[in-house]
Amino acid sequence: MKLFDVYQLFDITPVKASGCYIWDSEGNKYLDLYGGHAVISIGHSHPRYVEMISEQLRQIGFYSNSVKNPLQQRLARLLGEISGYDDYQLFLCNSGAEANENAIKLASFTTGRKKFIGFSKGFHGRTSAAVALTDNPKIVAPVNQTDNALIVPFNDISAVKKAFAENEVAAVIIEGIQGIGGINIPDDNFLTGLSKIVKENGSLLIMDEVQSGYGRSGKFFAHQYADIRPDIITMAKGMGNGFPVGGVLIAPEIEAWHGMLGTTFGGNHLACAAAIAVIDVLRSEKLVENAAKSGAFLMEELEKINGHFTIRGKGLMIGLQFQQPVKEIRTKLLMEHKIFTGVSGDKMIRLLPPLCLTKWQTSQFTDALKAVLAD
Ligand code: PLP
Repeated sequence: MKLFDVYQLFDITPVKASGCYIWDSEGNKYLDLYGGHAVISIGHSHPRYVEMISEQLRQIGFYSNSVKNPLQQRLARLLGEISGYDDYQLFLCNSGAEANENAIKLASFTTGRKKFIGFSKGFHGRTSAAVALTDNPKIVAPVNQTDNALIVPFNDISAVKKAFAENEVAAVIIEGIQGIGGINIPDDNFLTGLSKIVKENGSLLIMDEVQSGYGRSGKFFAHQYADIRPDIITMAKGMGNGFPVGGVLIAPEIEAWHGMLGTTFGGNHLACAAAIAVIDVLRSEKLVENAAKSGAFLMEELEKINGHFTIRGKGLMIGLQFQQPVKEIRTKLLMEHKIFTGVSGDKMIRLLPPLCLTKWQTSQFTDALKAVLAD
């Protein structure tokens, strides 16, 4: 059987990984500044993570959500403590798109409304309601197209006001920092204004922290740079450090009823063990603080490379915006300097490394980038 050919692949086969490094089948070692698309938070194959998942598997790997699972309670407690949202409720699922799809359904159930506002260049995953809230026609299939999805310009509060004046809006969904759309940061004032408009209109605010959450921005959630408390917060990528797990944090006023949301695999024992290990390591190794420090250092070093690109980002979520396509630069970084980077569009290099990135590794990248740009 052939694989359904939807991915453009690098000609590399990783077979081993540790911390910020991966090794390919030919024994080459690469510095991973892409983190498997912002997924690797505590570092590849962290010993505590491997031990907790292995031990859990020896006990019980899976049972459905029809029985008590104390690991879910433990995860909820730890997540409440580390995020500062300990009065919120947790719904567990398996991926970022699923977290957003559930957040959208939840907002619709709660408000009894159908319309949602999303933003230009936003991305919330590829399930039906989530994908409808993007302005990228290539990924919206005819079945996903709906008049319930309103896309307004990013960071434009008067456009939001106008959309509210003309529609009964269930919720606004916005990324903590836009990822695939090119590392666009919502202004603090914009977020505060959004939060206010949403409240005045009996609507809800959904923060999509699938990529920008879990410490990547240098705070646990990127929106915590602004003074807001969203009604619903979604998360996934860094949550399981590669184990598929997603979550929805839900404000205390939103009430659940049995059968409102559901999933077979979400919150299973192995996923909880992985997510608990991630929070343990984030805390014991102070990785959120490290993301802030390493990210600030990396940005300072990048600022010194004048004239080639502009920089946007926070913590270890950084975009280098070039005027020209970056394919050749990325290929040279990969092939000649053994450094993996991400991309956004064809003119941005996106850096999403594990949160344990060291200053030395940062310099390894900036030295390599200087060499490539000098070619
Ligand atoms: N939301 C954001 C902001 C994302 O960056 C992504 C994935 O890149 C998703 C949602 C979808 O997550 P998943 O691929 O786990 O479904």
